[in-house]
Formats: sequence, C-alpha cells, structure tokens
Amino acid sequence: MRTVKYSTLVIGSGIAGLYAAIKIVQRKDFQGKLLIVTKCPLGESNSRYAQGGIAGVISKNLKDGVSLHISDTIKSGAGLSNPNVVEYVAANSERVINDLDSMGAEFDKDENGDYLYALGGGHSVNRVLHAGEDSTGMVIINALVQFVKNSPKIDIMPKSMAVELLISNNGCKGAIVFDKDLKEYTSVYSDSVVLASGGIGQVYKYTTNPYGATGDGVALAYMAGAKLKDIEFIQFHPTALVLNKETKNRYLISEAVRGEGGKLLNNSGEEFMSKYSDKKELSSRDIVTRAIISEMEKEQSSNVYLKLSDINSDIILKRFPSIWKKCKTNGIDITKDLIPVAHAAHYMIGGVEAQLNGKTSIDDLYVIGELASTEFHGANRLASNSLLECVVSADKLAQDIPLKSENIEIQSDNEIESIIEKYSKTEIQDDTNYHELKNQLRELMWNNVGIIRNEKALTEAKNKIERLLQDCKNKVIYTDFNGYEYRNMLIASNLITECALRRKESRGAHYRSDYPYTKEEAIHTYIRKGE
Ligand SMILES: Cc1cc2nc3c(=O)[nH]c(=O)nc-3n(C[C@H](O)[C@H](O)[C@H](O)COP(=O)(O)OP(=O)(O)OC[C@H]3O[C@@H](n4cnc5c(N)ncnc54)[C@H](O)[C@@H]3O)c2cc1C
Repeated sequence: MRTVKYSTLVIGSGIAGLYAAIKIVQRKDFQGKLLIVTKCPLGESNSRYAQGGIAGVISKNLKDGVSLHISDTIKSGAGLSNPNVVEYVAANSERVINDLDSMGAEFDKDENGDYLYALGGGHSVNRVLHAGEDSTGMVIINALVQFVKNSPKIDIMPKSMAVELLISNNGCKGAIVFDKDLKEYTSVYSDSVVLASGGIGQVYKYTTNPYGATGDGVALAYMAGAKLKDIEFIQFHPTALVLNKETKNRYLISEAVRGEGGKLLNNSGEEFMSKYSDKKELSSRDIVTRAIISEMEKEQSSNVYLKLSDINSDIILKRFPSIWKKCKTNGIDITKDLIPVAHAAHYMIGGVEAQLNGKTSIDDLYVIGELASTEFHGANRLASNSLLECVVSADKLAQDIPLKSENIEIQSDNEIESIIEKYSKTEIQDDTNYHELKNQLRELMWNNVGIIRNEKALTEAKNKIERLLQDCKNKVIYTDFNGYEYRNMLIASNLITECALRRKESRGAHYRSDYPYTKEEAIHTYIRKGE
C-alpha cells in the first residue's frame, strides 16, 4: 500500500474544508504541505448548492446588528445554543464575509457598492447576503477552488474517500484513503486531521443534499471513538421541488422565495400557513414542514404548491435566475405557474462534538462545518447560519491548530499498523447490491425517523438497523465507494435513531408525536462507541 505524509490532512472540499485549508497554509509558521482528500471532484459538496445566502452583520449597514443576530439564533436554538459560541460567530461574520468577498466570492451589492440583504425565516431583519443572486454556494466554492488549485502548498486527492481514521493512543495520525477509479488504498499520515465531510441527507429517501452526503464523517468519527452530540436533530426543508418523475434528490426552492413574498397553497388552492403560525410562510422550517405534511395528509396528496405570481416578475427573474431556469426546464414558469413542493431532509444540526475551533474529544482530530456540533445552532438551525458557522469555525481552526515541524515523522505504532494491515489484504469478491440496500435504508429512515417521530416507529427502525449492522459486522473492506457508503449510512442512521428514541420530548427540529411538549430543562444528547 502507498504511504504519504503531510503536515495537515483535510477531508472534504466544501466551504469548511476549503476555507480551512487556505487559511492554514496562509499562516506564516506553516511548513510542509497540506493534503485535501475529497470523495467527489474538488468542490462538489452541499456547499456548492447553497442558494439563499450567508447570514451576516456588516456594522456599517445594520444598527444593533450583532445583538439581534445573537438573539434570533438563540431563540431558534430552543435552549441548546451556547450564547458564547453564538456571540463569537455573529461578531466575526463581517470579517469572514469581507474576506470571502476579497477572495473573489463577490456578494451582490447595490449601486453604492453596499451589500444587499434578503430576509430568511426566523430572522427579525434582512441579514442574508447572497452571491450570484440564488447561486451563493456556487460563487463561493468556485472562488475557493481557484485559490486551492493555485496554492503550491496544497495537494489534492479528488475522487478519494477516507474510509478509516488512523487512531492510536497518541490521537489521530491520518487516514486510510480509497481511490475510486484505481481502487487502491493509501495510508495518509499527518500531524493533524481536519474532518469536514458534511452531512447525512442521503440517509433519507428524499433530500436536498447531493449524492456525497452519506454521513461518512459521522461513521469515521464514531468508529474512532469520538463523542457525538444532539445527532437526533435533523432539519427538513419544507420546499423542495416535486417532479412527476420521482427522484431522491429534490431540488431546493430556497426560503428566500418565501422571504420575497411567495405563498404556500394546498391542493384546493387555499393559503394555509396562517392556520399554523402567526409568522405564516416565514415560520421556522420545522413548523412550515409539519404544516405542509398536515395539509398533504388531509388532502391525500404528495405535495403542496408555492405561488410566486403575486411577486413582480422582474423581481423573480432577477432574484432567482437558477430556480427559474431549473423550473423552466421542467415545464414550470414560476412567474405564472404554481410550483409543486414538499419537504426533504436538508441539514444535520447535531454531529461530532467539537469546539468552534474544531477540537474534538480525540487529540489531533478536528471537526468543522456541518459535521460538527458546536452548540451554535442548538436544536434548530436558523436559515443561512450554516455557511456562516462553516467559515467562522474554519477560520478559528486555522488560527488555533498547532503546527508542527516540516519533517513529519511517521509515528506509527501497533494500533496504526493493525489498521493498515486490514486494508493490505487481497480484495474479496462482493456481489452485494448496495444500491438496493441503500434505498431500503432510505425508505426506512424516511418513514420511521422523519420529521414526525414516535416510540413505536423509532424502535422498529432501530431493531431493523441493528440487524442490518450485524450483517456487515465482519466486513472490513469493500470493493467500491458504495459498500463503504452503505456502512456509513447504517452507522449514522443507527445513531440518529438511537438518540431520537432517547429524547422523549419535542424540541426544535426534533418532534415526537408521543411527547409533543418541550421539557423545562434543555439537555444535550451524547453518544460514543461503547457508551
Ligand atoms: C441545496 C442546499 C441549499 C443550501 N442553502 C444554504 C444557504 O443558502 N445558506 C446556508 O447557510 N446553508 C445552506 N445549506 C447548508 C450548507 O450548504 C451546508 O450546511 C454547508 O455548506 C456544509 O458545508 P461543509 O463544508 O461542512 O460540508 P459540504 O459542503 O457538504 O462538504 C463536504 C465535503 O466532504 C466530502 N466528503 C464526504 N465524505 C467524504 C469522505 N469519506 N472522504 C473524503 N471526502 C468526503 C464531500 O464530497 C464534500 O466535498 C444548503 C444546503 C443544501 C444541500
């Protein structure tokens, strides 16, 4: 097996991984080289598909901005946000957004050169900055990818999947990486590992997340013995496009559309959100999602509709060119026609317990971005706060991560040798249809561990998932990405289900029909291998 060594290994090339890599190598004391390992082509990630924008407070424009952003975020977090973390992120938004803008991720501005802001659900003022109107993620990722490609201090291994972390008593020393095309393993040794591998959307039947979001980081960190926190909190987005031809990836119709005045209608053509909440279409995502499900159940339909025709068509075309194009190619003119929408799994709120600088319960293992549970979002993420957390957290990690000498010693020991040994074995034939198994798991998670949960459905899911985990218990190496992804999806699903069972209350994005009330005391859920 090939062996390489780097001073830092970054796993994932979404906004968190790319920004962290750039900021680490920009440090004056950085020596040696940094490696980015990424499962898909460089930059392919959830980040790339972000539409609405990034929440930010630019002091010049917004009075009382930071304190209002803090209070909105804490309110949405339903008792589980840490005020110190929220304050740090909100207070640093201006700096990181200006930095991204100067790196070529240009945010939309007015004729005076001031940033333009949109309104997002749960935000009390317009504070969502956007780029390329509704292509914020694409603009940011393109700029960061360019930076990374131009850096002589960064090497890239695209289409390569981290399948296990190299863990010993001395902490995390690298990872085993599997090349998709060559089907070869590499042992990557590094002084520290930054895991920025994003979320879990693909464990659900319908999701807004692209194909790479299979919970790999959750599984890798869990197998390595890291502590996970609040992983039962999964955010479902209420408005994803429903097309006649069923696809598991549902195209997102950004919340910004409702921010501009888009209305939800049921199949009888009635606006219904006022029955569920005073804030109507701009209520938090869990409320809008449950309202949509309730209307769909009443009418036995598979979707509701978004109506934009009351908004001036020039505004629609200017603000939502990508959504317009996507719908148009599917025969829907959003300036006139109703858009069929339903909910889809969107964002993992909890994850691997980490400080804002990425520090985890394992030495030299750092976790940032959607994968991290930093207590910023609490029990419910506010729209557009995710990109912000990713950048602020990546920036803090780059400031705090200890950098070691240029001559990295390979600190191998028996534990690491035995991990490597497993992957040196000859490949075994494997005829398992992992596509089919993945789809069965997605169906189970959608039906039993979705937005409305209860003991019976959760227990049934838990029992089934445990049986499936037993089936692949003795399997160590797989012949392609699909096998590893299925294993990772099973592990992530098991943890989500277990923690959803344990949380016997409804709070934020976690709703239990058998425990519909919120307990007075807000407590976190922790889970670790063997505990
Ligand atoms: C459609 C959509 C729209 C959104 N809109 C917004 C928005 O407007 N505002 C907002 O704040 N948030 C938005 N979000 C959420 C936000 O985009 C994500 O939470 C955020 O971008 C996550 O960034 P990340 O870097 O942590 O992970 P990702 O961007 O998901 O990056 C993860 C990376 O890790 C790689 N990877 C995964 N597993 C492995 C492995 N085993 N080995 C190697 N590489 C691996 C992936 O290929 C990918 O490159 C949206 C999400 C989606 C899906």
